[in-house]
Amino acid sequence: MPVPTSDNSSFKLMAQFGHQKLVFCSDVAVGLQAIIAVHDTTLGPAIGGVRMLPYQSTEEAIDDVLRLSRGMTYKAAVSGVNLGGGNAAIIGDHRTQKSEVLLRRFGQFVAQLSGTFIASLDIGTTPKDMEYLRMETKHAVGLPKSLGGSGDSAPFTAKGVYYGIKASLKELYGNDSLAGRTIAVQGAGNVGEQLIALLREENAKVYVSDIVEERLVEVANKYKAVAVPNNNIYELEVDVYSPCALGGTVNSDTISKMRCRIIAGSANNQLRDEEEDGRLLMDKKILYAPDYLINAGGLISCYSEIAGYSAMRTAALTENIYEATRSVLRKSEAENVASYKAANQIAETRIADMRKIKQ
Ligand code: NAD
Repeated sequence: MPVPTSDNSSFKLMAQFGHQKLVFCSDVAVGLQAIIAVHDTTLGPAIGGVRMLPYQSTEEAIDDVLRLSRGMTYKAAVSGVNLGGGNAAIIGDHRTQKSEVLLRRFGQFVAQLSGTFIASLDIGTTPKDMEYLRMETKHAVGLPKSLGGSGDSAPFTAKGVYYGIKASLKELYGNDSLAGRTIAVQGAGNVGEQLIALLREENAKVYVSDIVEERLVEVANKYKAVAVPNNNIYELEVDVYSPCALGGTVNSDTISKMRCRIIAGSANNQLRDEEEDGRLLMDKKILYAPDYLINAGGLISCYSEIAGYSAMRTAALTENIYEATRSVLRKSEAENVASYKAANQIAETRIADMRKIKQ
């Protein structure tokens, strides 16, 4: 049915992006207000993080879950895992409003979706919270290792980024050795630290920045990396700039200062404006390894928890990020399209192909 153009409702957004389901969960007695979005389940159940944030409005939360669930569909599709994309938002401050009863009630809502949606970790939720969800539904992952879960996803994410960096080096220079390569890692957090460890093991020269001085000094000293002020990181003449802190750091302002050859990091939504920034990077001949492809290690570890894969199988799936990144960069070069578009097209083709055999 055609959507009226004047309609700014959630239905219009869902129709525009092809979402299947938007579920509102409310329980006044426990103070629960949550929204679950299921974008696409062609490849499998919709996996998605559960974030708990004090959204300013319901519209803001809806916008977040619709955008993030679509991103998950693409991430799963391009990584070769058999999962769809979803996302959930619990409205509230996780520091003051999170409780066992709230999480277990939310778990009951997840249970009612009968496996269409699988909950995982995101901002404001922890492996302990997933334990509460698991008391009400089997469709929650990201449990602590002690309870048979996949535990902290950061090591898997860092390993995927490491493969993304090596694949980009291979495409640009014809060899993927890290020895002597210069890499600027922005953010010395969970993923940043693990990535720096991998890079230093293979003798890359690492620069690192962080807004938390103590953390910066600790990580720089531990791995013999060079600490740099955060504002200077874009101007460094390095092989790779690796954004591992927050999104939106690749934009017209920073691109104009950049002297790196490759951008490859873990942060989500690195391009502030995909269309414009994607083009600027191409003009400047900076290779961009799409964020959602190379940071898929965490998703892969959750997938392994669902599918019951061994550590070896998980490692092999993460290693696939190397070839997947090379395919995307080659397609981008051959067809003269921005690399994020090339990745999107590969994801869309896989979903369309699978739809043919799943009807
Ligand atoms: P984290 O919170 O452990 O680390 C982020 C680090 O960045 C912190 O040390 C913080 O002080 C620093 N930081 C914040 N703002 C900064 C700025 N403006 N400049 C420099 N440093 C800044 O988070 P993480 O788990 O290491 O994740 C890093 C990024 O990767 C995030 O964007 C996250 O969304 C993304 N990501 C993480 C995973 C995962 O498995 N943890 C998976 C996919 C994507």
